[in-house]
Amino acid sequence: MKTLAKFWRPINGKVECYLCPVGCELKDGQVGSCGVRVNHEGKLYTYTYGSLISAAIDPVEKKPLFHFYPGHKTLTIATPGCNLHCKGCQNWEISQVPKGEVTENSFYQETNAPPEVIVEKALEEGCESISYSYSDPTIFAEYMIDVAKLAKEKGLKNIMVTAGYINPEPLEEIDRYMDAYSIDLKFFSDESYRKYSKGRLQPVLDTIRYVFERGKWLELTTLLVPKYLDEEQLRGIANWISEELAPWVPWHISRFFPYYKAKDLPHTPVEELEKAYRIGKEAGLEYVFVGNLFGNDHESTFCPKCGNRVIGRKGYIITGIDMKDGKCGRCGYEIKGRF
Ligand code: SF4
Repeated sequence: MKTLAKFWRPINGKVECYLCPVGCELKDGQVGSCGVRVNHEGKLYTYTYGSLISAAIDPVEKKPLFHFYPGHKTLTIATPGCNLHCKGCQNWEISQVPKGEVTENSFYQETNAPPEVIVEKALEEGCESISYSYSDPTIFAEYMIDVAKLAKEKGLKNIMVTAGYINPEPLEEIDRYMDAYSIDLKFFSDESYRKYSKGRLQPVLDTIRYVFERGKWLELTTLLVPKYLDEEQLRGIANWISEELAPWVPWHISRFFPYYKAKDLPHTPVEELEKAYRIGKEAGLEYVFVGNLFGNDHESTFCPKCGNRVIGRKGYIITGIDMKDGKCGRCGYEIKGRF
């Protein structure tokens, strides 16, 4: 639904969108790089408010969040568009909106799932949270804020699953309603960010640091994209998490499969995932998980002190929990998270 956007200002006869670091300056009729924000007669509009394109009830483990009320159901929603353009995007059919699509396609005018409907659905289905995901929720900031605000009032939690490519001011507003974040830290090289995602590294690091310092629950994910992510970057990421954030921040390393414009790349070899896991442990990280590799040994949470399997998982299914009051059931070591 076409709605006046937030986070823009007029500038030299154009409008400047400051929602994300792309910083589009748009002439009348021009569409932003995300494909869903348009300068219409000197004002910036989002065309995707409530244009629900995907909704599913998932275990929270799928976000992935492993230490945030494990095993609960989360209603996950998305509208089309994205401010990044990753070559291997798994959800490219909904994230990469062709220029002109939103003004021409009636889907955007006719589809509106009001926040009340989303929140009601989540409650009806016994979900404990709403997740904003699939595309990047940054580009549906206004809708996410309205849904999250209402969800909070009704006692639901809110989870933002994002690439973290957002400016500080909108993030501050969104953060008022968020309880947890799953953020992609894709690379540790500006060049790789530029070439693979058409983004930059520093704004992502700034987002992660902000969220961490605000004390929100945070887990990070790195997809092991062959050729764009090397060992040096992996060490950089692992050390940065351990030293600049904390060793207890969970790090998910995930297997890449070729999609979209990255079909020329191979899937990540298993030994590379094992190597990345070792790099994480060598950096002192307490919780390193290997994803997209069903049934591997690194899906469960082990106590960093005594090695007890405190949360067992098979894929996204919890197979057992051995914790008491957030502590290891065997040695009493505090397991960081929200339980
Ligand atoms: S949100 Fe869209 S329009 Fe705004 S700066 Fe980012 S890419 Fe450009």
